[in-house]
Order: sequence, then structure tokens, then C-alpha cells
Amino acid sequence: MPQENNQANNLDRWLDSYADRASTLSVSEVRALFAVVSRPEVVSLAGGMPFVSALPKDLLTKSFNEMMAKRGDLALQYGGGQGDVVLRDQIRDLMALEGISSSVEDLIVTTGSQHGLDLLAGLFLDQGDVVLAEAPSYVGALGIFHHYEAHVEHVFTDDDGISPEALQESIDRLREQKRKIKFLYLVPNFGNPSGVTLSAERRSRVIEICRREHILVIEDNPYGLLYFDQKPPNALRSMDEDGVIYLGSFSKIFAPGFRVGYVLAPPAIRDKMVLANESAILSPSMFSQMLISEYLANCDWEAQIETFRGVYRERRDAALEAMAEYLPNLKTTRPAGGFYLWVTLPEGIDSKAMLPLAVSELVAYTPGTAFFGNGTGQANLRISFSYPTPDNIKLGVRRLANVINRQTELIETFGTKGGNR
Ligand code: PMP
Repeated sequence: MPQENNQANNLDRWLDSYADRASTLSVSEVRALFAVVSRPEVVSLAGGMPFVSALPKDLLTKSFNEMMAKRGDLALQYGGGQGDVVLRDQIRDLMALEGISSSVEDLIVTTGSQHGLDLLAGLFLDQGDVVLAEAPSYVGALGIFHHYEAHVEHVFTDDDGISPEALQESIDRLREQKRKIKFLYLVPNFGNPSGVTLSAERRSRVIEICRREHILVIEDNPYGLLYFDQKPPNALRSMDEDGVIYLGSFSKIFAPGFRVGYVLAPPAIRDKMVLANESAILSPSMFSQMLISEYLANCDWEAQIETFRGVYRERRDAALEAMAEYLPNLKTTRPAGGFYLWVTLPEGIDSKAMLPLAVSELVAYTPGTAFFGNGTGQANLRISFSYPTPDNIKLGVRRLANVINRQTELIETFGTKGGNR
């Protein structure tokens, strides 16, 4: 636990009163970084913040005024626990772009997809249950699974996404150990943190395995529409309506400040999720939902997504060019969409131990250890290219290269003890 937390605990009169579960809450490595990297002189390649400055604020103000004039009283009121039916109907059109056919009854609006994940974890996970996940996997999901005291089993993942053979092996091994596998959690498009996309051929095989083995799939897809060249394969949900729960979000294609996400689930699960949603928050924000609804109805949201694609494509290119120029010997993924590159460091360098050195050189990244629930990930780091300008991305990668090259020289001179493993 970080030092300031320990200090806070020493001062906490209520330490004896907490539930045991409270001890599973800790500052995520990404969150802990925010204070440092918000200094203007630091180039942050750490947090995955969308570039909301690319949104047309004047049009949003117009949407806001129109929404208030037409539906203001409703927007300021409590709503239904399942979400606004008008917005749910519009979400169906969004999901149709990824090959999903759905009905408004099966959709639940949540407070960001993070909240959807939390509701699902609460419904399905008991202490000691197993969640299968990619290697590496989204840090925010790992935090939730940890909080519900589940065990995350990372399954080998390469440039085509999670490996079906490794998935089958993990299932067989865990079942032999009599472990309870509750679901497979996947970010199939432009994964966070890997940037990789699950191939079409593997999608069918993953679905086939999970169907045969009676394992639910949670498909978390906030980045699917942010492709740079061509659309990714259709959603897993389009291949199995009973076996896949789909999570979507407006955070990356519109703005995270609204905190609106959605879940498409088979009917029995959907009913339980609506109850869980009501129990946690009564109703998702009507205000946010209605503003998004107005935006979808009266603004060219598809053109806006196209604008975002252009912004992020240019930044991805800047990051890859800088990697090729300054760190040509390092292996990095080549994302075809989304926000992230996943970099493999030279042997002997520990990404977590190196971070303070990098910050002293005015560049920040997220260490690979944030994306594993099993203590590994030292050999990798995540670069997020969504927020800094292309020039700043290049500057950041150049600074990072200085730090990595210095570490490599130390290791060559003194062995790994000279590095920081
Ligand atoms: N899933 C993934 C893979 C993410 O990257 C994020 C945000 N970083 C989320 C879920 C949560 O998104 P939100 O709650 O803003 O919808």
C-alpha cells in the first residue's frame, strides 16, 4: 500500500469497522500517476484520456439548449433503472454498426461501462471464483475482479488476440483443479492496454469453446468504432446472443464526462442487472442520457467519430514513427484503432522500477504490471497516444528512449543489478 495510505490508516479512527472487502481497494497504478503527470512539463503517455477538445462545443451547447427546452423537466428528474427508452433505441443503431441486432428491452444504461462491469462482477463473482482474461488485461476490470475477491487467470494473447488453444488448456487445467470459472472477460477490439484485435477466425473459435464449456463471455468494447483503416470483425455478441454480454460506452466516441455506458445482456441476466442498477444508483443520469440522445438525433455523430478516427490515427502514426526512430529495436504492437501501444522492454529492465527515472526525465507511461493480476508485466509498458499532440508524443518517446538506453547501458556494464530488476 502506498505510504500516504498507510499514514491515512494510522489516523483513521474507524479502522476496526471496515468490512474485510475494503482491504481489496488500493490506488491503481494509473490513478497514482495522475498527480505527477498533470505537471505541464511532463509529457504524459500514461492515462488513456480521450481528446475531447475535438468535439464541437457550440453544437453541444445547442443540443443542451434544445434538450432543456423540449425535455428539461424530465432531464432533471429521476428516471427508470433500465435507462431512457429513447436513448436505448438509438444505442441499437450504434450497435448495428458492429453487426449486433438487439431490442430495447435487453439494453441497460449504466454510469459508464465501468459501472456495468461492477454490476456484472457483483452478480457473478464469489470469493475464489475464476475470471479468464487476456494477458495483459484492462486495469479497471482487474481492480473490480480483485475487489470481489476473484482470481484472474490470464490466458496467452498474441497479435491476433487471445489464443483459443491456450484458452482451452486453461479451462481444462482449472476444471481439473475443481475451480469455478465464472466468465471470460475480453476487450476484442484495439485492446487496453495491448492495442491488439481478436481475429475473425479466433472469434468463432473462442465462442465455440465457451459455448461448449458453458462459460459466459463478457465483451467490453469501448474502442470498436475508433478504427483507423478498416472496421474490425463483427462483435462476438453478434455470434452468440445467449452466451455473450456486451458492454459499450459513450466515453470514447463522445465524452467520458457524461458517464454513460450500456450493457446488452440475455433476458434473465438483464432482469437481474436492472435490479442491481436500481439498488446501486436508482437510475442512471437522465440529464446525461437526454443530452446524448439529443446529440445523436440532431448532430452528425458519425462525422464526429470520423474526426476522432483521424485525430487518433495521426497520433498512432506519430507514436509508431517515434518508436521506429528512437527505439528501433523494441517490439511494439501496431494498433489498427483505439488509444494504446504495448511495448516490450530490453531484457533486464523493470518498467515499474524505471518509472520514477522516466518522470524525472519528464515523460510518464503506465508500467505493464498494472495490467496483470499475477504480479508480472515488468517487461512491458503501455503508451497511450490519445491525448498528447503528435509533437509531444514524439518528444515523450525521445525522452523515454534516453531513459531506456541509459538503463540498457547500465545493464551491459554492471549486469542486471546495474539495471533495476
Ligand atoms: N473498458 C475499457 C477497456 C476501458 O478502456 C475503459 C476506460 N478506460 C472502460 C471500460 C471504462 O469506460 P467508461 O466507464 O468511461 O465507459
